[in-house]
Amino acid sequence: MVVIFSDIKKIGFELIAKARELADKRGKKVCAVVIGKDTGTMAQEYIQRGADKVIVTGSSMEHFNAEDVSDILEKVVREERPDVVLIASTKDGKELAPRLASKLDAGCISDANRIYIEGDSILAERVVYSGNGVAVEQFSTLPGIVTVPGKAFDPLPADPGRTGEIVNRDIELKPQRSRIMDVQEMRSEGVNLEDAEKIVSCGRGFKSSDDIKLIKELAQVLKGNTLGCSRPIAADLKWLSEDHWVGLSGHKVKPKLYVACGISGQIQHVAGMRDSGVIVAINKDADAPIFNSADYGIVGDLYQVLPKLIEAIKQKM
Ligand SMILES: Cc1cc2nc3c(=O)[nH]c(=O)nc-3n(C[C@H](O)[C@H](O)[C@H](O)COP(=O)(O)OP(=O)(O)OC[C@H]3O[C@@H](n4cnc5c(N)ncnc54)[C@H](O)[C@@H]3O)c2cc1C
Repeated sequence: MVVIFSDIKKIGFELIAKARELADKRGKKVCAVVIGKDTGTMAQEYIQRGADKVIVTGSSMEHFNAEDVSDILEKVVREERPDVVLIASTKDGKELAPRLASKLDAGCISDANRIYIEGDSILAERVVYSGNGVAVEQFSTLPGIVTVPGKAFDPLPADPGRTGEIVNRDIELKPQRSRIMDVQEMRSEGVNLEDAEKIVSCGRGFKSSDDIKLIKELAQVLKGNTLGCSRPIAADLKWLSEDHWVGLSGHKVKPKLYVACGISGQIQHVAGMRDSGVIVAINKDADAPIFNSADYGIVGDLYQVLPKLIEAIKQKM
């Protein structure tokens, strides 16, 4: 059995696809856990995407609480006895996985982008040292817990004819040591970087927030319209909201086209965009590290290059 849990449905689909592959290799089943209110048709969708069984529980939970969710998952794992538990590496998943591992006295591998079986062993690979190395890790005891970032695996297509077991479970929640006092919405401009096909990103090469109109225009002519940025633009200068932030501590993106304007290409930024299809970099410093990751590079002042590039694309389109 492979158990999966994700607080974000589309990452849940991706985890099921990987779980399906691992389970099939061992002749085992895939069980997804759906927790909380408003789970709607999620259980059915999980079955259509490859789960054999879905446990729906925790309907009394107002908000995600890692203490409650780890209690629930602990019960599920003790009952279902999986070899592996895949957990989405979201903010909530990252809080949940080590708690669960500690309750089960299990090993935990975080942010795996490859998981596979070799002989009797389950192995996972993760990027370490800010993208400078890959660690191959192996569980010495089972079950093993693995957190998986979004987009690490492709989901299976939905099969509306697929059937499976849906179990509604009432797992009693016990009083916990922490309590959620208030939930505040993050400032968001409604950007969905993970699903964007074209991203135009800005970095500290821009002199003022006003100048971001240049990449807005480039995004528009490319019919992409999705803006990304390096950390200083979102975290320090706050010219764009954090949902634009690409990188190790921001969003991991995989568009067909990524245009980096005035971004130096430090490893923490590249870790978030290196899987893009075609990478174009514009930087006035010919030695900027971004050019090592770029398929096309333009060495020049972005204030001169961008207007010309926009005009040229307009002509072409
Ligand atoms: C733990 C940790 C996590 C981090 N996570 C992230 C992350 O998720 N995402 C991220 O982006 N960063 C992250 N960082 C920060 C990262 O190390 C860099 O500091 C950051 O990416 C630099 O942003 P930048 O390229 O915009 O700025 P800079 O490094 O200052 O680069 C600006 C670039 O613009 C060029 N430039 C300047 N003027 C012009 C012009 N007129 N025309 C063309 N080019 C010009 C310069 O040549 C330079 O290459 C992290 C750091 C740490 C320590």
